[in-house]
Amino acid sequence: MAVPKRRTSKTRTRQRRTHYKVEVPGMVKCSECGELKLSHRVCKHCGSYKGETVVEK
Ligand SMILES: [Zn+2]
Repeated sequence: MAVPKRRTSKTRTRQRRTHYKVEVPGMVKCSECGELKLSHRVCKHCGSYKGETVVEK
């Protein structure tokens, strides 16, 4: 079985891990209230979508 010759350094590990953070952010600012929301979804904060209030609170 193949065995690693050297211990992976902290730096190497961290460099590798920079690639697998936040995979799908998909967060945009709501045009109505400025809160972060998922794109292509009704805003959770104010219930608006495309400048119209879709869901009333
Ligand atoms: Zn909003």
